[in-house]
Amino acid sequence: MTGIDGEKNPDLPELLAPVGSLEKLKIAVHYGADAVYLGSGQYSLRAHAVMGPDDVVAGVEYAHRHGVKVYVTVNIMAHNRDLIELPAYLQFLREAKVDGLIIGDPGVFAMARRLVPELPVHLSTQANVTNRESALFWQSQGAERLNLARELGLVEIEEIRQAVRLKLELFVHGALCISYSGRCSLSLYMTGRDANLGQCAHPCRYRYALREEKRPDQYFPVEEDERGTYIFNSKDLCLLHHLPALIKAGADSLKIEGRMKSIYYVGAIVRLYRAALDYIGAEMRRLGPEQLAKINLPQAFDEELQKIGSRGYTENFFNQSPTEQDMLYDGIDYQPTHAPVGIVREVGTAPLIEVRNALDPGDTLEYLDQGLRNIEVQVTSMTNSAGAPILRANPNSMIRLYTEPALANVTLLSLLRKRVV
Ligand code: SF4
Repeated sequence: MTGIDGEKNPDLPELLAPVGSLEKLKIAVHYGADAVYLGSGQYSLRAHAVMGPDDVVAGVEYAHRHGVKVYVTVNIMAHNRDLIELPAYLQFLREAKVDGLIIGDPGVFAMARRLVPELPVHLSTQANVTNRESALFWQSQGAERLNLARELGLVEIEEIRQAVRLKLELFVHGALCISYSGRCSLSLYMTGRDANLGQCAHPCRYRYALREEKRPDQYFPVEEDERGTYIFNSKDLCLLHHLPALIKAGADSLKIEGRMKSIYYVGAIVRLYRAALDYIGAEMRRLGPEQLAKINLPQAFDEELQKIGSRGYTENFFNQSPTEQDMLYDGIDYQPTHAPVGIVREVGTAPLIEVRNALDPGDTLEYLDQGLRNIEVQVTSMTNSAGAPILRANPNSMIRLYTEPALANVTLLSLLRKRVV
């Protein structure tokens, strides 16, 4: 797949990024995704991260211009009523020239194969493929790719790889469901919002306590601490250090979760995994592919990971079944050490920055170059876009940024951040 230097490395799997908007798509492309996945219409499992038809068309054109593929999620668990407009929607996706459909429901799968047979179908993780017979079944049905269930260990992934010839896609990073990959009725039961139709309200992240029926105003904490208990709240998946093993196991695509996440998150995580894959690719060339399992990522990758924020990390089922260590029982907070402050909108000696968090003179910033290089600069002064000096830059404003050293060689769409703790 394509490295950040534009060179193809066929030994590396595809890096597949989540995008919830046209802007996130551009950021993911900028930081080195080989492919992106997005949702549109009412058929995606992220009802709050769908792109309109015009943005889908523009996104596909933009991605293809940069050699990046676009897959579209059509992965609701459909009811009969959901099928009525499906043919027109599939037709639209064909005309938009998307590169694949991500489907979890067998009925939707059958319709897609019948109505748009030229569009490759990738089986969604919602279909919960956990064994080789399942994999063989979907291969016989014409799936081009399987996104395996997140509840698999490395040995099981290797066994499925041996059994089938179709492409295997694996989640390597992002939020986890306590249920089998979103096949969950918790949200529907508690809030009326159906996770299987893309409307999850994430009650697995809520704080829970015990209430006695005669004392409705009194809540008793359960087990953990005075903040209550988060009994369903999983830590986030991170298989960064297992990329060599996954490559060795024959993964064709490594997928990042997070279509609802921020531009900063998408950009920073894609950048991190791009850099990791490129590092592994370079080491494979240097040492020989048979040494793949011995490749370790340097400490800089962990330091970068901590700057992006998470619920804490788990390797989920990779080596063993998760335990209580893989849950976050005492809170839901992300723990980022850094916050995004802006996006480069125009290059030059004083680049034009779209501000996302307040900026003051004297602030120390990190410019996130492509690759893993962070360039540290200090804000010396700022002007508004008309050139008038300002003492503080507020979110959503456009400013010219003067720094020491000067940010002379920045690229469009690059991100800036600052330390917050
Ligand atoms: S409530 Fe939690 S476990 Fe259930 S689908 Fe939503 S995010 Fe997943």
